[in-house]
Amino acid sequence: MRVYWHDDALVHDTGAGIFEHPPSPLVEVPELHPENAERIRNIRAALKNGPIAERLEWHDGRHAVREELEMLHLPEYLDSVQAFCAAGGGYLTQSTPVVERSWDAALAAAGTALEATAAVLRGECDLAYALVRPPGHHAQPDRADGYCLFSNAALAAELARRRGAERVAVLDWDVHHGNGTQECFWHRGDVLAVSFHMRHGSWGPSHPQTGAPDEVGEGEGAGRNVNMELPVGTGDEGYRRAMARAVEPVVDAFRPDLIVIACGQDASQFDPNGRMCVSMAGFRDLGAAARALADRHCGGRMVLVQEGGYGRTYSGLCMHATLEGVLGTDPLLDDPMAYLPDDEDRADAAIEAVRAAMAPFWD
Ligand SMILES: [Zn+2]
Repeated sequence: MRVYWHDDALVHDTGAGIFEHPPSPLVEVPELHPENAERIRNIRAALKNGPIAERLEWHDGRHAVREELEMLHLPEYLDSVQAFCAAGGGYLTQSTPVVERSWDAALAAAGTALEATAAVLRGECDLAYALVRPPGHHAQPDRADGYCLFSNAALAAELARRRGAERVAVLDWDVHHGNGTQECFWHRGDVLAVSFHMRHGSWGPSHPQTGAPDEVGEGEGAGRNVNMELPVGTGDEGYRRAMARAVEPVVDAFRPDLIVIACGQDASQFDPNGRMCVSMAGFRDLGAAARALADRHCGGRMVLVQEGGYGRTYSGLCMHATLEGVLGTDPLLDDPMAYLPDDEDRADAAIEAVRAAMAPFWD
């Protein structure tokens, strides 16, 4: 499969402070903003140096052009972001800092996602992954949100529609609600937007959507927006069941011509931004399930676009495992940080063990 990359991914400097907030006298040692270049350099290293490397072919991404961004974004919004960056940057939203060159990085993220998609649509490859940043799935037609400037995966889906795919499904397993994608296609019957996410609700004016299951789309889009909201701590087995029992039946009924994966690793068990406890095995299974859907409906064609994933070392390993699933290999990498196998009764068993141990003393 192909991997698309552009070096401008590295010029978007989000600075350091208190996690995603600005520096403060309350911390002597600021930490990098969670959405930093290091995270995707490590994803790149895992894919270049891991055992999956021999199956990957690296290609150059490119900048998006204005007309491509206007497929989904309002001209006034594009003007405002460009001017904000040109003036030196600052905080676009309370969690979205930019510098002057962030504009180039955002153009490269969208353009590289589009280039990966175009390669699949031209029949040059069946599978392509755009390893990009800043991420995109919170960016709405008229606003930035949650580290995102342009809605990269939604633009990929829209390009596919305009180049002849009748129906496109976007499956988003970033740990956060794909509200930007939801907003782009809310009234549309031709794009199925599915978001798996941790139940987190709205987070203010930049993210008014809640991600609840009853946000189903309107008009032609009614029933084309699926919010697979999951409780905190869901884990591998919960994601497997959500895919099999809620998402696969809808995708099967929709019969997409192309699947776009908004691919984040922030549902992992070591993510500072998510609380969902997915391990490499869980990501491998998500990749395999998506590939099975692509084989069933799309002649095996699928595009993956990088979203979040803030565990700075573990995300790359989770992406490696995801591609193992997509490519259908045996597991190639052990999980160096695997915890106990997922078991929904685990807490009950632990409680009973403590009760039994204490019973002689307290009953
Ligand atoms: Zn996320």
